[in-house]
Amino acid sequence: MIRFEQVGKRYASGQDALVDLSFEIDAGEMVFVTGHSGAGKSTLLKLIGLVERPTRGQLVVNHADLARVRRGGIAHARRGIGMVFQDHRLLMDRTVFDNVALPLLIAGTAREEIGKRVRAALDKVGLLAKEKAAPATLSSGEQQRVGIARAIVAKPPVIIADEPTGNLDPQLSAEIMGLFAEFGQVGTTVLVASHDLMLVRRLGKRVLVLDHGRLIDDFRPESARPGR
Ligand code: ADP
Ligand code: ADP
Repeated sequence: MIRFEQVGKRYASGQDALVDLSFEIDAGEMVFVTGHSGAGKSTLLKLIGLVERPTRGQLVVNHADLARVRRGGIAHARRGIGMVFQDHRLLMDRTVFDNVALPLLIAGTAREEIGKRVRAALDKVGLLAKEKAAPATLSSGEQQRVGIARAIVAKPPVIIADEPTGNLDPQLSAEIMGLFAEFGQVGTTVLVASHDLMLVRRLGKRVLVLDHGRLIDDFRPESARPGR
C-alpha cells in the first residue's frame, strides 16, 4: 500500500530532511511515525500527500509510483489520501456539514450522495448533531473530529495525520487516536506522526522512529504483527 525504497528528500536550502528511507506498510495497517522536532516526520507525510516530492529513491502509494505523477495528476492522486492536520484547517465561515462535504464537492460527487456520505462521516466521529454548527462554536477536540470526518468522507484507502493531537489534552488525545485505530480495523491504512512517544506506546501499534531524517527503529509489538 505504501512503499518507500531508499527515499531521500533534500530541500532547496540544502537541508537533508530524509535520508535513505526504506519501509513498507500494508493495507489496513496503523503505523505511527515518531522522533524529535526536525526528525523528518512532517516531510515523510508530505511526500505521501504529494505536498513535497522526493529527491531520491522510489515511493509507491496506492499502487502509484509517486515520482511518475506529473503536476497535472497530483490532484487526482491526492484523492486517494485523507489528510488531517494539527491545526485542523477548517473553513471558519462554513458550517460543519460544508467543511466535511468539501472533498466530495471537489471530486464532483452527486448531491444526494454528498448528504449521505457527510452524515455517515459525522456519525463515525460522533458529531451528527453538529452538522449545522459553525466550527468556532465547537471545542478543540470536536473541531479536530470535524477535520477527521473531512479526511474520511471520500473513503480514501490511506489517511495521514500530522500531530493530530498536538493541541489537545491527554484524554482527548487518546480519544482521537482511538478513532484512527477504528479506521484501521475497516481496512484503511493510517499513518500518524506524533512526537508524543508515551501516547504512541500505549496504543501498541507499529512505530517508525526517525532521527535526523533516518529510520532508526521499526518497532512492532506482538499484537501489531500481520495476521493477528
Ligand atoms: P518534523 O516534522 O519531524 O519536525 P520536518 O519534516 O518538519 O520534521 O523537518 C525535517 C527537517 O527539514 C528539519 O531540519 C526542517 O527544518 C527541514 N525542513 C522542513 N521543511 C523545509 C523546507 N520547506 N525547506 C527547508 N527545510 C525544511
Ligand atoms: P510542519 O511541521 O507542519 O511542516 P513547520 O512549522 O515545521 O510545520 O513548518 C511550516 C512551514 O515552513 C512548512 O511549509 C515547512 O515545510 C517550512 N519549513 C520548516 N522548516 C523549514 C526550514 N528550515 N527552512 C524553510 N522552510 C521550512
